Amino acid sequence: MSAWPHRVAVVVPTPAHSSIAGPLTYGSELALPPGTLVRVPLGKRDVLGIVWGEAFGDGAPVAGEKAIGGPLDGLPPLAEGWRRLVAFAAAYYQRSVGEVALAAVPPQLRELSPEQWQRRLRRTSATAATGSVDDPPMLTEEQSAALSQVRTQPGPFLLFGATGSGKTEVYLRAVADVLAADPAAQALVMVPEINLTPQLQARFVERFGEGAVVSLHSGMTNPQRLKAWLAAHTGAARIVLGTRMAVFASLPGLALVIVDEEHDPSYKQQEGARYSARDLALYRGKLEGAKVVLGSATPSLESWQASEKGRYQRLAMPSRVGQGRLPEVRLVDMNQQPKGTVVSPQLLAAIQERIARGEQSLLFLNRRGYAPVLACNACDWKSECPHCSAFRVFHKIDRTLRCHHCGFTERVPRACPQCGNLDIAPLGRGTERLEEHLAELFAGTMRPDGQAARVARMDADTTRAKGSLEAQLTEVHSGAVDVLVGTQMVTKGHDFRRITLVAALNADSALFSSDFRAPERLFSLLMQAAGRAGRDASRAGHSQMWVQTWAPDHPLFGALRKHDYPAFARQQLEEREAAAMPPFSYQALVRAEARTQEVAQGFLRTAGDAAQDLPEAPQVTVFPPVPMAVQRVANVERAQMVVESMSRPALQRFLAGWQPVLQAQRVKGLIRWAVDVDPLAI
Ligand code: ADP
Ligand code: ZN
Ligand code: ZN
Repeated sequence: MSAWPHRVAVVVPTPAHSSIAGPLTYGSELALPPGTLVRVPLGKRDVLGIVWGEAFGDGAPVAGEKAIGGPLDGLPPLAEGWRRLVAFAAAYYQRSVGEVALAAVPPQLRELSPEQWQRRLRRTSATAATGSVDDPPMLTEEQSAALSQVRTQPGPFLLFGATGSGKTEVYLRAVADVLAADPAAQALVMVPEINLTPQLQARFVERFGEGAVVSLHSGMTNPQRLKAWLAAHTGAARIVLGTRMAVFASLPGLALVIVDEEHDPSYKQQEGARYSARDLALYRGKLEGAKVVLGSATPSLESWQASEKGRYQRLAMPSRVGQGRLPEVRLVDMNQQPKGTVVSPQLLAAIQERIARGEQSLLFLNRRGYAPVLACNACDWKSECPHCSAFRVFHKIDRTLRCHHCGFTERVPRACPQCGNLDIAPLGRGTERLEEHLAELFAGTMRPDGQAARVARMDADTTRAKGSLEAQLTEVHSGAVDVLVGTQMVTKGHDFRRITLVAALNADSALFSSDFRAPERLFSLLMQAAGRAGRDASRAGHSQMWVQTWAPDHPLFGALRKHDYPAFARQQLEEREAAAMPPFSYQALVRAEARTQEVAQGFLRTAGDAAQDLPEAPQVTVFPPVPMAVQRVANVERAQMVVESMSRPALQRFLAGWQPVLQAQRVKGLIRWAVDVDPLAI
């Protein structure tokens, strides 16, 4: 007989691929309902766990079976919908339930005593508003039409709205609807980037009041995260706004899920359980009977295809609110420019015109730092990273060479480390160098107020300090900056009113990459960037989007000129279908890391051979292992192997059957391996 009246199955934070992937059995004095948060002993530690169900068996004592440390009193159990979401995500992405479940609740829960609990709980309840606090604008016809569909149809919806068409207002109204219909209803609103949360949070707080809205994203401190999580879990918060991790928020009253910029690759988690928050949002909506709205001006081809087939209901908002117009697109053929041209003379003249008129220009370049490589003029030395198969980037501001892959940083050497030559020079151009270059070029250009033009830069380097992004955005909005230089981070979401020129300087290098999603990503980047220009009707007439390109005849540019996403999607989907690429097939990747390429690839090859015995093998193609694009990072060799199937269920069964085979392989020198289901970068 067991020493305890009850035995419960508890999931704990188990590492990936460990032998204890399933729930563990513990004894308990009380019958605890599934979803109850408990403290349990695990090895020498005391960890947070979640009761997953009754543990069955013949009641015989299990050797070493322990009693739970106690439930977290007064905290409602996690709802069944939440548990099913977690179980699905774990199975689909080939991870353990414990890993996914415990990563989705705030770590601080474990540390609180029952008294602290009660105090927290009291503090979170009290407050939520539902009525409109601000004065909402009159809806445009397109907005009204979209909303009435959301009200009356089951969805899921794909809100295909041009940049500046007023998608946010549709989200606000849809949220208001569900909150008004049921006093316990909650809404989840997701955005791809932390940077975009403060802006959106302000909009939602204006509309629904302070207490109704909480955020969840990885930039929060543990206490902030705990507070927000509790507010959502207890129903005190009606709206949760967050990045991909928010898809796992505990929302007992979930009635609506919105995924803004649904095409954005940031919705895919890139470590641990590599889930797609967009895909899980759809699953969660179906599971919990919540409506799901995906929004984008450039939907992912997966979502577009689903809307073509009628699996998603497409809501189109093609027009900009007010008189705002989409910019005219100009291509500069770089093959016709003198060698070494950074900014073509035509583009420079167009920027100069804007400075003289008091308008702003936005230039982006996909490389931060001063120059991507430092090189010796006398020998063949280049600033390679000793630990990675990549160059270290020259950052002039602190005269360092920094590896953007492993972080290895050194002072720039005075002389070539190989031959002693003093003449070592930067090759190529990053945002820092571009900013310097433009500041020199425009030094003599005057604004209408007689002041000299000002060039500023915005990228991961200039926005690292807390609050610096907000400060820089304020400066741009105030008009103090005439030319803003940045990485693609400047192209996302911001509602800049005075920008009438946007330019992509080297964006099309992506077209020469082997990744079949490169054109899709480039097109959406350029469309989003174009979306920054001409938002203000009074200046929209002469707004322009410039693209410097080496491949001006690429069909992508034809569609871009007309702002014609459907034409682009049609062309791409035809290509994908012909090549049996996603969304017409389904993929997974196995990645392996080891001390040598041979070991990494050997592991994959053996696993691939063993997979041929699985019953689904005839429906699945296993490609040979290859080194990853950046094959060595921090002295670790990386390889990957693609598996592909025309059937998603077959691929899922194949992966589930393969998991034990992968786990059983013991290879000397192998560091780790992981499965990535529906990978975004191949
Ligand atoms: P999107 O997200 O589709 O790019 P936004 O939601 O940023 O567009 O809206 C663009 C601008 O139009 C914002 O400044 C917003 O406040 C404004 N706007 C949205 N809907 C309306 C409306 N019905 N009437 C007036 N202005 C609106
Ligand atoms: Zn040298
Ligand atoms: Zn490195």
